[in-house]
Amino acid sequence: MMTIKCPYCGERSEAEYNFGGPAHLERPSHAAEVSDKEWGNYLFMLDNVKGISPERWCHSHGCGRWFNILRNTETHEILSIYKMGEGVKAARGDKDGA
Ligand SMILES: [Zn+2]
Repeated sequence: MMTIKCPYCGERSEAEYNFGGPAHLERPSHAAEVSDKEWGNYLFMLDNVKGISPERWCHSHGCGRWFNILRNTETHEILSIYKMGEGVKAARGDKDGA
């Protein structure tokens, strides 16, 4: 089981979190105007990356806030954790996380 460092609460067991799918997906700019197929592709046709992937996670049994993780899906190594709206931060372990 992974230990994930919530950017708001600190390190907690993976059991406190929920996976929310890939991060940084580009939503169609005019959602009402896209075809059902385009909308379906946006919602359901997601890459299943083997390797480094940005992901959305929610600390659902903690603060309830969403954030992003850059994670290697093969090894489960977490390379970066950053708040929504922020770009990918430096690898975990950097002093300032910037
Ligand atoms: Zn939290």
